[in-house]
Amino acid sequence: MIIQRVVLNSRPGKNGVPVAENFRLEQSTIADTVQAGQVRVKTLYLSVDPYMRCRMNEDTGSDYLRPWQLSEVADGGGIGVVEESKYENLAKGDFVTSFTWPWQTVAILDGSLLQKLVPQLVNGRLSYFLGAAGITGLTALLGIREKGHVAAGANQTMVVSGAAGACGSLAGQIGRLEGCSRVVGIAGTDEKCSILVQEMGFDAAINYKKGDVAKQLRELCPGGVDVYFDNVGGDISDTVISQMNQNSHIILCGQISQYNKDVPYPPPLPPDIEKIQKERNITRERFLVLNYMDKQEASVLQLCQWIQEGKLKVRETVVEGLANIGAAFQSMMNGGNIGKQIVSVSK
Ligand code: NAP
Repeated sequence: MIIQRVVLNSRPGKNGVPVAENFRLEQSTIADTVQAGQVRVKTLYLSVDPYMRCRMNEDTGSDYLRPWQLSEVADGGGIGVVEESKYENLAKGDFVTSFTWPWQTVAILDGSLLQKLVPQLVNGRLSYFLGAAGITGLTALLGIREKGHVAAGANQTMVVSGAAGACGSLAGQIGRLEGCSRVVGIAGTDEKCSILVQEMGFDAAINYKKGDVAKQLRELCPGGVDVYFDNVGGDISDTVISQMNQNSHIILCGQISQYNKDVPYPPPLPPDIEKIQKERNITRERFLVLNYMDKQEASVLQLCQWIQEGKLKVRETVVEGLANIGAAFQSMMNGGNIGKQIVSVSK
């Protein structure tokens, strides 16, 4: 059977900025028959995520991420529908997902590696299982629960960087649901800041590309910062950490501002900021959502409940067509997305 797929065309280099042309669409073939234990799936949605930047390098710098190989099909979070099944637990028409979904229109996959999805849990919005009801939502929820030390009634102020992105937009809302009394976001455009406040219930948002971030932060967080959900690292994080309170907590979710640089993860703080962190006893422990998969099922149900109740507002930026996945990745890395960046493959 003839299919379309997207392969890694070239590497940007450890210090390079990734572009759409690092990926290539090509025609390929898959077997006409499905073997015992396998299913043939039609791809519906693919996820593009910042961690994929590491997979573009020859060495990802981490033991849990495999580098993509040149001229081989790329993969990541995906959702599809079963077209034919020779795996006992899946039937034609079932919706399924995997973290290692190949970037191709149709694939033959090992049935035991797929998770079956229940669309009703997300009001039929299947793509949410790649975002708010998937790994992104889990990252926000478990990051806060495992590293945030948020306590209802404790009058805590939370700051979120990368706040209009997939994790950040959920993290601010979940911080509030878990008990923070004030939530302030930092994002890269006025439109994003306005959505955070008008739609997602943030108390305030700062456009870090305009004006003095430190000054705005001081005005918006008069009692200092108790919990910092850090998606970006770099100068923004240094500014936030400088305004954190004694015994406060950083949720070290990601450091996207450093991903096009050949630095270790997590990148060390500049000496003056590290001094503040130590003197104020600010926790900054590495957080990796994959270490908490024993909590996946209960946490996904919690996220779905909040979505159904309208307590968690979800935004997606959807790009149509497998051919545009490289452009979608490039755009997301440059701030082109609001909420989760999704590629719709079926149309
Ligand atoms: P995302 O926030 O939806 O997309 C990335 C956003 O980062 C962009 O839209 C852009 O928005 C912002 N950005 C890009 N370059 C920046 C820079 N130099 N400085 C400040 N902001 C910049 O991505 P996501 O999926 O939610 O991931 C957010 C972070 O969580 C990433 O660091 C990712 O690696 C991490 N993550 C960690 C785990 C874990 O287990 N720890 C799991 C998933 C994701 P602006 O317009 O605001 O610049």
